[in-house]
Amino acid sequence: MDLTFLGTGTSQGVPLLTCTCRVCTSPDPRDRRFRSSVWLHDKDLSIVIDTSPDFRSQALRASIPKLDAVLYTHSHADHIAGFDDLRTYSVKNGNCIPIYADPFTLSRLEKAFDYAFDLKVRSPAYVCPEPHPITGPFSIGSATFTPLPVPHGSISTTGFRIDIAGQPRAAYLPDCAAVPTPIRDQIRHIPILIIDGLREEPHPTHLTIAQAIEISQDIRAGQTWLTHLTHQTLHAERDASLPTPVHLAYDTLRLTL
Ligand SMILES: [Zn+2]
Ligand SMILES: [Zn+2]
Ligand SMILES: [Zn+2]
Repeated sequence: MDLTFLGTGTSQGVPLLTCTCRVCTSPDPRDRRFRSSVWLHDKDLSIVIDTSPDFRSQALRASIPKLDAVLYTHSHADHIAGFDDLRTYSVKNGNCIPIYADPFTLSRLEKAFDYAFDLKVRSPAYVCPEPHPITGPFSIGSATFTPLPVPHGSISTTGFRIDIAGQPRAAYLPDCAAVPTPIRDQIRHIPILIIDGLREEPHPTHLTIAQAIEISQDIRAGQTWLTHLTHQTLHAERDASLPTPVHLAYDTLRLTL
């Protein structure tokens, strides 16, 4: 199973509209960040986590041929706004696409995209979501997902531990202000940790890069990849100063789980 980063940027993306800072004008493609999302794929299975406002461009860039399911971490706009572009995948998937989200996130999706969820008004041309409320670990094909609820300001987001053939392989925690001990206990020694590393300065709803490094070291993660990055982080410069084995993720990066 491979994991491709479709986006590694914070909610406004990088470059930030109108900004002329050194990161927003950097010629390094790793400094161009679509909103955060990942694609899990092998020859049989194709799953995205979140549909960002950039989802259409991300799916074109990665050449995503089909989708078997969509998982959502939470309902902030930078994670759900691309929902309507699931249309083609919904049709290709037999006019139905399984949507996995915690009950609160699902209720927000139903509100935001009522025309797709409401059977009374749904047109055959719309996305046809098949809601799966997340209440515990669940499997799709060879992958098992364990929900990891983490605080994110006034809400909780659902991160995921991804197990392949019964082995924990990766954890995805793109939006969190902390990782409580019971959650850390579920991802100790995880081979691949993908975690919120928003910026250097503290933020009420996100981890700083230093906080993300502390978590990586505490749980003794293997490779650690920081995501949900702002335009304050210049890839080449900051990546070179991170402690091994912590790195900045970048759009199009592909990992093998
Ligand atoms: Zn976000
Ligand atoms: Zn900028
Ligand atoms: Zn968020």
